[in-house]
Amino acid sequence: MLIKGAKPYGEDAVDLLVEDGRIAAIGDELTVPGADVVQAAGLVALPGLVDLHTHLREPGREDAETVETGSRAAALGGYTAVHAMANTDPVADTAGVVEQVWRLGQQAGLVDVVPVGAVTVGLRGERLAELGAMADSAARVRVFSDDGHCVADPALMRRALEYVKALDGVVAQHAEEPRLTVGAQMNEGDRSARLGLTGWPAAAEEAVIARDVLLAGHVGARLHVCHVSTAGSVEILRWAKSRGVQVTAEVTPHHLLLTDECAESYDPVFKVNPPLRTEADVQALRAGLADGTIDAVATDHAPHAVEDKESEWASARPGMLGLEQALAVVVQTMVEPGLLDWRGVAERMSVAPAAIGRLESHGRPLAVGEPANLLLLDPAHRAPVDPAALASRSRNSPYAGRELPGRVVATFLRGTATVLDGKATR
Ligand SMILES: [Zn+2]
Repeated sequence: MLIKGAKPYGEDAVDLLVEDGRIAAIGDELTVPGADVVQAAGLVALPGLVDLHTHLREPGREDAETVETGSRAAALGGYTAVHAMANTDPVADTAGVVEQVWRLGQQAGLVDVVPVGAVTVGLRGERLAELGAMADSAARVRVFSDDGHCVADPALMRRALEYVKALDGVVAQHAEEPRLTVGAQMNEGDRSARLGLTGWPAAAEEAVIARDVLLAGHVGARLHVCHVSTAGSVEILRWAKSRGVQVTAEVTPHHLLLTDECAESYDPVFKVNPPLRTEADVQALRAGLADGTIDAVATDHAPHAVEDKESEWASARPGMLGLEQALAVVVQTMVEPGLLDWRGVAERMSVAPAAIGRLESHGRPLAVGEPANLLLLDPAHRAPVDPAALASRSRNSPYAGRELPGRVVATFLRGTATVLDGKATR
């Protein structure tokens, strides 16, 4: 296959020859008799994106999403690998469940589905799950998370860090001190007081991050912080990194774009955990992502069935879709204002998340001999988001009707097109 006239990292246009799943040649005006030609003039080529934080809902809530529908949404978003969170039913806390999810991903064949293992049995925060068995399974789990719940017990968190250190793994913490967020509905501040909704204070996130970076430093283990949402969290991470703690962090597209002003509508599509914060937080998150304090963008793609989401605010489940619009949101919030160039986007959405998840064949440079995991983006395209057109089985997109820049035209997984002309190939 010959990709003609693409611009790797937005730089000079070249042709890329893909053979046997790898980039076989890069050059000007390559001609290869018999090759399938993909016209890519004007398109930006980037390494296939890697998501550290996807909820695929299978097993258990196949009415909201399946491994296959979520994989299709991911491919359409330019992803070639996604980490599937463990809060399924049953919970992914054994080798058997993580292998089941891994196999479903292989069958769908649209992205590499990398299971995340639960830290504690049943996500109950009481005793450690079979971390070693999951690491040794066919799914080769390296990221462990109770996401949806915080590993709140500090002694248990310390033991989890000690275990994952031996496995070359990482604990991905959903940082939320549960005693401070009982009944919480939105960011705690003037607006929550005025709207009469129970607040989720920034301190509930920041307190756990501060505790965990100290524990990770003490143990000498890797810690990853999920969906950082406050300016204070960015400051704590900056301090921890300056001290040499092995901590990495992610931010979601929605926390880069949206604020708690969205709650004024009482539309539960904007209810999410952690909640949308203030404009000052959004600015701090963008700056933190730009300077590398925040390592990665992760979607926290959280599909919900209509009956769980389209109710009154207080009873709606938290969470929003993200896979299909993540890159567009990053283009709007980071590339267009000049905070990241295309190499920066590749670093934050592919290279860094692949390194955190220890994925060897993803997050690789666009270079001869490398696996042909890549996407082609039309950065000039702008269109409003139509939830009815999404590949996800759910419809809870916070971007409905919003015009966003950039369109993923094609995605290739080991040289095979999973998306062509903006449409999934299977
Ligand atoms: Zn979470």
